[in-house]
Amino acid sequence: MPERPGTASTGSSGIGDPYFPRDGNGGYDVAHYSVRDSYDQATGLLVGSTTLTATATQRLSRFNLDLMLPVRSVRVDGARAEVVRQGAHEVVVRPDRPIAAGAEMRVVVAYAGKPGALAYLGEKNWLDDGLETVTMNEPHMATWWFAANDHPADKATFDVRITAQADRTVVSNGELVGRRAAGDGTATTHWRAIEPMATYLAFFALGRYQVRTGVQDGLPYYVAVSRELTKAQRTKAMGELMRTPEIVSWLQAQVGDYPFSSTGGLTTSLEPGFALENQTRPIYPVLGADGLLTVVHEVAHQWFGDSVAVAGWRDIWLNEGLATHVEARWTEAHGGESAQAWLERLYTQYADNPAFWKLRVDDPGPEHLFDTPVYLRGAMAAQALRTRIGEAAYLQVLRTWAQQRRGGNGSSAQFEALAATVSGQDLAAFFDAWLRSPQPPARIAAHGF
Ligand SMILES: [Zn+2]
Repeated sequence: MPERPGTASTGSSGIGDPYFPRDGNGGYDVAHYSVRDSYDQATGLLVGSTTLTATATQRLSRFNLDLMLPVRSVRVDGARAEVVRQGAHEVVVRPDRPIAAGAEMRVVVAYAGKPGALAYLGEKNWLDDGLETVTMNEPHMATWWFAANDHPADKATFDVRITAQADRTVVSNGELVGRRAAGDGTATTHWRAIEPMATYLAFFALGRYQVRTGVQDGLPYYVAVSRELTKAQRTKAMGELMRTPEIVSWLQAQVGDYPFSSTGGLTTSLEPGFALENQTRPIYPVLGADGLLTVVHEVAHQWFGDSVAVAGWRDIWLNEGLATHVEARWTEAHGGESAQAWLERLYTQYADNPAFWKLRVDDPGPEHLFDTPVYLRGAMAAQALRTRIGEAAYLQVLRTWAQQRRGGNGSSAQFEALAATVSGQDLAAFFDAWLRSPQPPARIAAHGF
């Protein structure tokens, strides 16, 4: 008997994030993605399949997946399922029999299409110039290349297998499992990410890369620089990427163990206009003179943003503010301006700039996720907190946050509560002043001055 939408056994079309109501889905929790994509740079055609291993969190007669590529078929536990596309972003799957609450299900989604033609909420995120292809964006990227429960609230482990022409290198998250050449001029490269990961952080890069691998302080690294760059650019980029293990060691001495089993980075020639904290292996554009600070920022995200991801996208300052503050700490620790002088300088610089203070940092709205105040006022709040509660308590907050929520998520409210608990101080007015007030916090000791 057909069931109407909204009945108890229908998984919702969103996971419940008011910023992006269609992101993620209700009714199941993904434990693992196995992505097998074949991509032809000459035609821009992607043909692939994603196997999701998931647990139903309710009885499911139907559920949604997030995927923009045209679907060829879906099988649930081996049986062909009915599939209906609902708009550009949602695929509605009706298994041949309902899934019981608590049951594990195996969903195999086959698809084919041209990711370069796809757009979601105005974003056209596919980066490809025919020589290099890189899947990097935030908050949305997964639905251009695999079927997902696309929200950081549902993390999973990944196997990614990319088939492409054999003279190209494929890089992804985690560890390289192997590479197998076929007789037809293609090769399949297999990467595995063994720690839970938010879907937007999963990536593959396909192109001609100069690669360096090794082990430093017990941690394997894999760094790659596009050969499409000039020799001078490649040399500079490789120098920056090779500092990654040192930055990891510097940071883990302060905020606790690095949360992943490998590290690295990749510099692309595709001019994305930003760097991204892809898990274990951030992706960078060609960086400027202070490029090392960008590496510090993306490495900091491995703790703050990746291992501990946002609970909802309104919590984005926890990613960008904390990572930007680590830049200021790095500068301070390496003979530069102290982080407190940095805070004072920005406070003065933005004193007569009402727009800078107007945005609510802990709830900026979906259109303003990556606005300057999210980064700078977020980081100023972190430095002010450090001054207000002291260095030891501040680092204890970060260590506890990273340890207790490792592999999970956290909200601004939870972070504020933890800071109050660790410091033994009532910080409600402090966080109101820095995150929620539409004007500069008064320049008083209680606000970290
Ligand atoms: Zn960032």
